[in-house]
Amino acid sequence: MFWLPEDTVGPRRPRYTPPVTLSPTDLPALRSALLTWFGRAGRALPWRTGPEGRRDPYRVWVSEVLLQQTQVARGRVYFERFLDAFPTVQVLAEAPIEAVLKAWEGCGYYARARNLHRAAGVMAREGIPTTYDGWRALPGVGPYTAAAVASLACGEARAVNDGNVRRVLARLHGERQPTEAWVQARADELLDPARPGAWNEAVMDLGATVCTPKAPRCGECALAAWCVAFRSGEPATFPAPKVRAAVREVRAVALLLGDAREAVLERREGTLLGGLMGLPTGVVAEGESERDALTRLAARLGVTVTGELGTVTHGMTHRRITLTVYGGQGGPARTPVAGAALSRLDHKALGLWERRQASLFAPA
Ligand code: SF4
Repeated sequence: MFWLPEDTVGPRRPRYTPPVTLSPTDLPALRSALLTWFGRAGRALPWRTGPEGRRDPYRVWVSEVLLQQTQVARGRVYFERFLDAFPTVQVLAEAPIEAVLKAWEGCGYYARARNLHRAAGVMAREGIPTTYDGWRALPGVGPYTAAAVASLACGEARAVNDGNVRRVLARLHGERQPTEAWVQARADELLDPARPGAWNEAVMDLGATVCTPKAPRCGECALAAWCVAFRSGEPATFPAPKVRAAVREVRAVALLLGDAREAVLERREGTLLGGLMGLPTGVVAEGESERDALTRLAARLGVTVTGELGTVTHGMTHRRITLTVYGGQGGPARTPVAGAALSRLDHKALGLWERRQASLFAPA
C-alpha cells in the first residue's frame, strides 16, 4: 500500500501518525525495494570485499570494531593502516601489544585494541568462529559486532542494531521513543533471512546516506512507501533526541621533558587515558589550583619547571580534558616518541612544542 505525505499535496499542517506494525504481507516488497536500492547505491568500502555472506571474517571484525567510534571516511584510513600492519589474525595474535596500540593511534578507546589483541590470541589457538555465539564468546565482542560478523562473513540470520538502524526503524514505524529491545525486535522482524548480510548493510547505508539525522532525503528513499515518519511530514523529528549525559570537565597539567622527538613518557594509570604512554600528567584535584598540581608533579619527577608551553583540549564521550603543558629540566631518561602509542591529547601537547620551535625560528 502506498501513501503520499500530506505536505506534498497541500499546505496543511503535518499531522502526527501513531506507530504502526508493518504487516507481514508488506515484507517481501519492502525487502526487495531496499535491497534493489542497496545493489545500486550501496557504499563501496574496503572491508566489503568477497562474496555476500562469505566475507573474510577477520576484515569484517576489524572494520566493525574500528567503526564503532569513528566516521567511515577516517575509519577507511585506519582500516588500511591496521590491515597493512596485521594482515591476518595470526599476525595480530603474535604482535606485541605496544605495536597494536601504536597502529590503533587516533582511533580512541584503546580498550578495543587490547580486546582485539586478546581475541586474536584466542582465535589463533582455537580457530575463527563461524557462528554468532562463537563470536560473542570472544573478549570485547558485543551483540552488535557478533551480529555483524555472523551475518556478513558467515551468512547467519542476525540483525544488527546500531545508531543508523535505530533511526531508520524508528522513522519507518513512527516510534518516537525506541528502546534497545524495541529496535532489536523490529530489526529481527525485518531482516531478510535469505540475505542477512546485505540486508544489514543496506539498512546501515540507508541511515548513513539517505535517512540522515537532520535532513532525511525521503524523496530518494526506497522505504518511503511504508514510512510513517515520512507520512507525518516531519521525518526528522523521529526518534526524539536522547537525553545526553553531562560532560565532565577535567583539568590537568603535563610536563614535556625533552622535545617532540625524545621525551619522558610514562604509562598512565587510572581513568585519564589509562594504559597508554604519555607525557607525565597530574589531574588538578577538586579544590586544588593548577599550580598545586604542577608542583606535585614536578616534585614526583624531581624536575624544575621552566615555563608554560600552552594549553590543549580533548573531547571524549563523557569528558572534556583541558591540559596545560609546561616545559622542564632534569628528571628521568628521555625515550623516543615515534615508537610509542600516544593518545591524540599527547600529540596535541607535543604539537605545542613544535609550534613554539617554528615561531622561534620564523623570519622576523
Ligand atoms: S522515507 Fe524518509 S524518514 Fe522514512 S526511512 Fe526513508 S529517508 Fe527515513
